Amino acid sequence: MNAGEEKTVSVLKGIGVSPGIAIGKVYVLDRSDAKIFRYKLTKNSLVTGEIKRFRKALKESERQLAEIKKKLGDYEEIESLYIIDVHIMILRDRMLADNTIRNIEDKCINAEWALRMTIDKYREIFNKVEDDYLRERISDVEYVGQRILSNLVGKKHETVSEIGEDVVIVAKDLSPADTVQMKVEKILGFATDSGGKTSHTAIVARSIEIPAVVGLKEITGEVMTDDEIIIDGTAGLVIVNPDPEIIKRYEEKKSHYMAMEKDLLKGAHLPSITKDNHSVGIGANIEFTEEIPSAVAHGANGIGLYRTEFIYVNKERLPTEEEHFLNYKSAIKGNGIKWATIRTFDLGGDKFISDPRLAEEMNPAMGLRAIRYCLREVELFKVQLRAILRASAYGNTGILFPMISGIKEIRDAKRVVNEVKEELLSEGIPIGEDLKIGIMIEVPSAVMIADELAKEVDFFSIGTNDLIQYTLAIDRVNERVTYLYEPLHPAVLKLIKRVVDAGHKAGIKVAMCGEMAGDPVCTMILLGLELDGLSMNPLAIPRVKKIISNSTLKESKKLLEKVMTFSTAVEIEEFVRNYMTEHFPEYFPVDGQ
Ligand code: PEP
Ligand code: MG
Repeated sequence: MNAGEEKTVSVLKGIGVSPGIAIGKVYVLDRSDAKIFRYKLTKNSLVTGEIKRFRKALKESERQLAEIKKKLGDYEEIESLYIIDVHIMILRDRMLADNTIRNIEDKCINAEWALRMTIDKYREIFNKVEDDYLRERISDVEYVGQRILSNLVGKKHETVSEIGEDVVIVAKDLSPADTVQMKVEKILGFATDSGGKTSHTAIVARSIEIPAVVGLKEITGEVMTDDEIIIDGTAGLVIVNPDPEIIKRYEEKKSHYMAMEKDLLKGAHLPSITKDNHSVGIGANIEFTEEIPSAVAHGANGIGLYRTEFIYVNKERLPTEEEHFLNYKSAIKGNGIKWATIRTFDLGGDKFISDPRLAEEMNPAMGLRAIRYCLREVELFKVQLRAILRASAYGNTGILFPMISGIKEIRDAKRVVNEVKEELLSEGIPIGEDLKIGIMIEVPSAVMIADELAKEVDFFSIGTNDLIQYTLAIDRVNERVTYLYEPLHPAVLKLIKRVVDAGHKAGIKVAMCGEMAGDPVCTMILLGLELDGLSMNPLAIPRVKKIISNSTLKESKKLLEKVMTFSTAVEIEEFVRNYMTEHFPEYFPVDGQ
C-alpha cells in the first residue's frame, strides 16, 4: 500500500471465544524464520566489519534476554527464570563466539552463514550424546542461534513477552503458553487464523478476560502491524481499518458491555436457587490460582475445576512437590472459597508441554494424555498426589481424575492415592479427613459404564468439551469442524442424562465442568437434566446464576421434555435459543452484545 493511500475497512467473521471488545493497533506475530543467505567477503576490511556486526548481535541478544528476565521477575509463579539464564550462558559460551569468528575469518563468509555453521557443529556434538534429555537441549542452542540471527538480519524475534503493551495480536495460531503471557504483557485481545471454541488457547483467553476471535482462516493475510483493528469477542467479528464512525460505535458498545458486566456482578453473590427451591452448586474453572479473587467476585463459592496442568505450561521442567503444594493450598484456602476440586495433570492433547518423555503423537487427543500419562509415569503422578493430599488438610478438597475410560484406570489411580496416603501418614503428615475422589466423565465409554464407575467414586464431573469431541468425532481445535460442535445435539443430551441418572441412583453428586456449563443458552436444559453443580469460567457465572434464580425446576424439566422430542441439534438449538431469548431478553440481546 502506498503512503497516503486510503485503507479499506474489512469485516471478518470467525469464532468468538472470549467475550468483550478490544480496540487498538495490530501486532502481527510472525513466527516464520528469517531467510539466511551465504555470501563471500572480498576484502579484509569487510571481514572486520562482519565480526563487529556479529559481536553487536551477540550483545543485543544478551540485552534482550536480560530484559525479558527482568520483566518476568515479578511473575515468578508464571515462569521459571532459570531457562533464561541457560540461554544467557549459551550466548556467553566461548565456542559459540570463537567458532563463528573463526568461520568468518578463515572462510571469508558473512556472519549469518558463519553462525549457522557453528550451530550445525553444536548439533553434531549433541547428536552424539546418549542421554535423551541432554540431547534434546540442542533446542536451547537453536533458540539462542535464532535470536542472534534475528538480530543480525534486523528481524524481531517473535515472542509474546517482547511485544509492547496495548496491542491486539494477530497470528496464524497461538499456543496456550502464548496466551498465558498475554496477561503479563497487557495485550488487549487477539485474533487467529486457526483454533476452535474449546481449544485451551480459547479457554485461557476467557480465564484472563481478554477478547478473542479465532478460526478467521486468513486474517494474517489481511492485516499489517499498526493497522487499526476491533475485536468483538462476543459476536465473533473482527473489523480491520475501521473508519471513525465504526470506532465510535464500538466504543459505545464497549462501554455498554462493561456496564452490563458490572450490573451482572451486582447480583453475583446471590445463591443459585430456582424459584421452586432447587439448589445448584456453582463453581469456577481456573487455570491459575491468581484467578481466584475474580472467581469469587463473579459469584463462585468453590473451585469446580482446577486445570493443574497449567502449572506446567511455559516451564522446562516438572513442578516440585512443594510448588504443587503451594498452588493447591492457596486454591483450597482461597478467600471466599468453600471447596476446591483439583484435577490431576491433564497433559497432552492440545496442551503442549516440553517434557521430552511425551513423544510427538499423530493424534494427541487420543494419545498418551491425562490419566494414561500419569499411570505410565507413576513417580511423577505421586509427586502431584502427595501435594494434593497434603493440601487437603487445609479445607474441603476433591481430587478429579481426567479421561477415565474404564474401571481399571480408576482402580489403579485409587491404588496410587492409597499408597501416597500411607506414605504421608507414616511420615506423620496430616491429610484432610473428608477428601473426595471423583472422575471426569468425558469419554463415551465412561458414560456407558457410569453405573459401575459410580460405585468406585464420590462424584462425577462431566467434561463436555472432550465428551462432545469424542462422541461427535470432532477435533476441538479444528476450526473447519467447529460447526459440528453442538452441545445441544440429542446424543449429547442423552449421554448427560444417562450419567446423571447413574450417579443419582448410586447416591453420588454429578456436576458439569465443560464449557457447556457456562453457556447461558443451555442453563435451563442443564437444570432440567438435574445436574447438582455447574463449574464454568468465572465471567460466565453471574449470567448463569441470574437465569437459575429466575427459573423453576418444573419449567426446566418441561423444556427438556419438549426438546427431547426433536431429532436434530439444529431444531433443539433454535427452539432453546428462542425460548431463552423470549424469557430472558436482557441476557440475550439480539445484536449479540
Ligand atoms: C472438558 O473436557 O470438558 C474439560 C472440562 O476439560 P478440558 O477442557 O481441560 O479438557
Ligand atoms: Mg477434558
